[in-house]
Amino acid sequence: MNILKQIKDCADTMPERVAFRNRSQTLTYGELWTASDRLAAALEEACGDNRQPVAVYGHKEAYMPVCFLACVKSGRAYCPIDCSVPDVRTEAILECLDSPVALAPGKLAVKTEKEIWGADRLASIIGEGQRPESGRAERNGKGAPRKTAASGMQPVNGEDTFYIIFTSGSTGTPKGVKITADCLNHFLEWSVDLGGPEKEKQGAVFLNQAPFSFDLSVMDLYTCLACGGTLWCLEKEVQEDYQSLMDSLKNSGAGVWVSTPSFAELCLADPSFGERLLPRLRTFLFCGETLPCATVCRLKNRFPQAAVVNTYGPTESTVAVTEVEITDEMANGEKPLPVGKIRPGTRIEIWDEKGELLPEGEQGEIVILGDTVSTGYLGREDLTARAFFVRKEQERQIRGYRTGDAGYLKDGMLYYGGRMDLQVKLHGYRIELEDIESNLRKLPGISHAVVIPRERGGKIRSLTAFVSRDQSLTGDEGEEQQSGDGAMLRRQLMEFLPSYMIPKKIVVLPRMPLTNNGKADRKALGGMAR
Ligand code: AMP
Repeated sequence: MNILKQIKDCADTMPERVAFRNRSQTLTYGELWTASDRLAAALEEACGDNRQPVAVYGHKEAYMPVCFLACVKSGRAYCPIDCSVPDVRTEAILECLDSPVALAPGKLAVKTEKEIWGADRLASIIGEGQRPESGRAERNGKGAPRKTAASGMQPVNGEDTFYIIFTSGSTGTPKGVKITADCLNHFLEWSVDLGGPEKEKQGAVFLNQAPFSFDLSVMDLYTCLACGGTLWCLEKEVQEDYQSLMDSLKNSGAGVWVSTPSFAELCLADPSFGERLLPRLRTFLFCGETLPCATVCRLKNRFPQAAVVNTYGPTESTVAVTEVEITDEMANGEKPLPVGKIRPGTRIEIWDEKGELLPEGEQGEIVILGDTVSTGYLGREDLTARAFFVRKEQERQIRGYRTGDAGYLKDGMLYYGGRMDLQVKLHGYRIELEDIESNLRKLPGISHAVVIPRERGGKIRSLTAFVSRDQSLTGDEGEEQQSGDGAMLRRQLMEFLPSYMIPKKIVVLPRMPLTNNGKADRKALGGMAR
């Protein structure tokens, strides 16, 4: 699979087919290809020898996929940043990217030395004829080969980085996972057959729930484009309003669903969510967090014709490396559900604390080796060396990644057993609790911060933070101020962290409870959080 070639074939043979839709815009394959060519040429001219990764800032505007393809066609990786990311974090990510230009289909107003190409600039580069507009499809001679303005350029290829996705980092700074063109192409060779053969997905509508700054979106965006399908984007505003969400789903004609289980659970709360609303839906693809049996049973009840597929994997190994279609027997029987069989090209090993291989059935750390493992974290050799390794096998170098996930293998299936560190999943979002803690400690006067996940029904439902102030600021005066502090701290924290990372409750303690060895007593705090 070569995703660029695949998209070009679609643009050549069916230029008028819609590749991308949001609430107000439509983009055909023809427009996607030509617009990204023009933008690639402009990028090449502006950046010259600088081939550093380019930020693409926005939400689900039709220019987003145009910008992604323009970067890779011009030989540069792209890094999507969603508009919901707070300015301080956006600035930190922009600092890591050494391109002189940032592409911004969304409104970007942060401190940066980069030249920002906003929506107007992008429109003028791309040209009137290629501007995505409501309901308009470009008229192109069917089957006429597309002219490639960017034909002199060397697109991203092989081991070149294709995209960079930033995930929560335990030091309080996000880390950028580099995914190569090979990783993506290998992943797509497998993902097009998930839940049923590729031919059944040809031309289907794929739902996009996750913002492009999360790797789950790679599963819908590129699998869709590889199948000549239409990506139906559910924007943030649509997802936040039940009526708009159900209306959008109804109008979508979706055949393939890609989301976290949490999002499907949210939809299941609406009684109209079922086969009548989505009569063409045949495949549910889940990834990113535990898929509860109860959710599978409810989905199978409402969508008797659809396959429910659980997949597992971290951003560091290109979205997902295992898959299993959950049968009725699995859903009603054995718990927990397996996360699946391992994709060809990937090997999974289970290690003990010393890095020794554990036998089948024994739980240890899940280690992923193979052709979709990332080349590491952008500009962070220290973190890369801690989590990634290269193994030489029969003259071949194989990359490996220590996930920090616990699990075991049984009869060729992988079972997930939770995290071994302080990383959690809340409503499908990956969060390092230490990331929140370190940002809380940056707030004026805060010396200690511990974040505790609150669980119900075996699932994390919210976060509670406990903080204590600098000793120098406490005393009578300090303690008097504490009662109203939580709300103020939440507001302050919003400057630094996206809303899904803000603890629901922040409790200011006169003093942090400590264990015998002087560490914050997470167990005691866990009891207080309940
Ligand atoms: P992300 O990098 O955001 O995709 O998050 C990756 C992490 O999500 C993994 O390391 C797991 O801890 C968790 N995860 C991914 N898929 C599953 C799954 N199917 N079941 C349970 N946890 C999962």
